[in-house]
Amino acid sequence: MKQLDDTTTLSNGVKMPWFGLGVYKVEDGRTATDAVRTAISYGYRSIDTASFYQNEIGVGEGIRQAGIPREKLFVTSKVWNDQQGYEKTLQAFSDSLEKLGLDYLDLYLIHWPVKGRYKDTWRALEKLYRDKKVRAIGVSNFHVHHLENLMAGAEVKPMVNQVEYHPHLTQQPLKSFCERQNIQLEAWSPLKRGQLFENQVLAEIGEKYQKTIAQVILRWDLQNHVVTIPKSIHADRIRENADVFDFSLSDEDMRAIDALNRNDRSGTNPDSYDEK
Ligand code: NDP
Repeated sequence: MKQLDDTTTLSNGVKMPWFGLGVYKVEDGRTATDAVRTAISYGYRSIDTASFYQNEIGVGEGIRQAGIPREKLFVTSKVWNDQQGYEKTLQAFSDSLEKLGLDYLDLYLIHWPVKGRYKDTWRALEKLYRDKKVRAIGVSNFHVHHLENLMAGAEVKPMVNQVEYHPHLTQQPLKSFCERQNIQLEAWSPLKRGQLFENQVLAEIGEKYQKTIAQVILRWDLQNHVVTIPKSIHADRIRENADVFDFSLSDEDMRAIDALNRNDRSGTNPDSYDEK
């Protein structure tokens, strides 16, 4: 991984950037548009949104304003819980495309494993994939048992699993399972939404490399072969976060960061998820 547009190759051969911009809680309209346009102008090529974020219109506008050929970008969206089920998912996908103003997505994910519905939802994703409306399909917030259950009846294997992942939640068993199954792991809340910026170990490692704590964490993601999508609406942080391709963490520092794991989530555990 040498530069911002470097990619991992998904199990179906599609290339996905290792690094992207997250836009959860980014207000629709000008804020979303500016964040996306700014990120792309700094070299970001991947944007992660969702119908739930209610900013697909602003994100789409940012993509258009950036003036980059569509095929150079990698756009992800997700089907929300109350849109799950076969027919509803097909409709949700088409609504997302319309809001984004795009004619295909690069990646479409099931946002949460809603009990009793995610298998029908997956069949809809398989259809969208076969119809070439989306280049890759995957899941989010799936534990190993959800993945096993899904794959038991699936025709297409998920290419990505996007889960909470940061130095306090290193997801070792899930990560190993995904590696064995050739499912690319992707980190949401890689910065634990700002809750790691006081960490002494990360601060000391940052000093050694003259990098910020955010940069140390994001570099750690990349060296662990986990796709990462930090969110910021501030131009200076969008740039800072992406400035992680000019240094490498030593094995010792990688191990020191791995050891910070506490199995501590900032979001909900998918097993105790209260469906909405
Ligand atoms: P992050 O861990 O990316 O943290 C974002 C927070 O950190 C924001 O408050 C941001 O503030 C701040 N921040 C960002 N960069 C810096 C920096 N360099 N220095 C100081 N503060 C910084 O949290 P998210 O929850 O947003 O996760 C990232 C993305 O993952 C989401 O935006 C979304 O796309 C995805 N996601 C997916 C989920 C799922 O269920 N699939 C769930 C949650 C997130 P500011 O914007 O003010 O700079």
